[in-house]
Amino acid sequence: MTVHSDTVPNITLNNGVQIPQVGFGVFQVPEDSTQATVEAAIEVGYRHIDTAAAYYNEAGVGAAIKAVGLPREELFVTTKLRNGDQGYDSALRAFDDSRRALGLDVVDLYLVHWPVPSKDLYVETWRAFEKLLADGAVRAIGVSNFLPEHLRRLLDETDVVPAVNQVEVHPTFQQRGALAATREAGIAVEAYSPLGRGADLGNEVVTRIAEDRGVTPGQVVLRWHLQAGRIVIPKSVTPERIRANIDLAGFELTAEEVAEIDALESGNRTGADPAKAAFSQYR
Ligand code: NDP
Repeated sequence: MTVHSDTVPNITLNNGVQIPQVGFGVFQVPEDSTQATVEAAIEVGYRHIDTAAAYYNEAGVGAAIKAVGLPREELFVTTKLRNGDQGYDSALRAFDDSRRALGLDVVDLYLVHWPVPSKDLYVETWRAFEKLLADGAVRAIGVSNFLPEHLRRLLDETDVVPAVNQVEVHPTFQQRGALAATREAGIAVEAYSPLGRGADLGNEVVTRIAEDRGVTPGQVVLRWHLQAGRIVIPKSVTPERIRANIDLAGFELTAEEVAEIDALESGNRTGADPAKAAFSQYR
């Protein structure tokens, strides 16, 4: 089977840690098939896996990592703190649970999953993340779904600048203002739901470019992200999509094609609004 890992560029985070620009997302990958799915992804070249405590499949990710037996430094593993575990002590406890489920000594990237502004615990939570970083339990710490005002508070009130902000970005929902604020703070952008959960792939601009170039609509959209410097974490449980979604090095979009996709912005958010989301993420 083709291995593409050598064709996936690395992005250097603000603390010098390198992250593969294409990762494999496992949100909604069922617990009982996660190990096989992640093994299949690693087999075709993914070296970056994105999970979360709230996905209830960290153990499957860990089992896959163990089964493939790659040197630890060849894999980049991200997990996230469940909203209901925000707070200093509870975040440290939750991290230990995640680390144990993954079977790892060190997690590459640990993210605060949502700011949950109504609880106002994310600054205190970030202090626990800073301790995990200082202790060497994680190689990098970051946030997810943070709006500019949440980033501003961390920058003003804490010591470590987040390495990444993982946010919803796809052709019909681009969040340009929030992304600019993230980048200006030296924080790398990770695009979640990079395909718009599949919904952006039927767009006629995307399908026309795909046909012109003999690639899939998914490859067009992922290539658009890569050329903008974003890290992407597409999810699929379908073998040919898993393979195609990392096979992005063979073509380049022109500036005109990029502009056409840029013009698809239509405020089409598929996930929750981070200003309001307050779910605990417990089952
Ligand atoms: P994606 O944009 O990755 O889309 C996934 C959907 O698109 C699935 O239904 C999949 O179907 C389908 N799909 C994948 N590849 C293709 C393709 N090449 N052609 C056609 N359809 C395709 O959405 P997600 O919401 O899953 O986001 C990706 C990852 O981002 C998640 O797994 C998770 O790791 C992260 N995430 C983070 C969030 C956060 O709050 N931080 C929130 C949401 C996601 P199928 O699987 O059946 O092949």
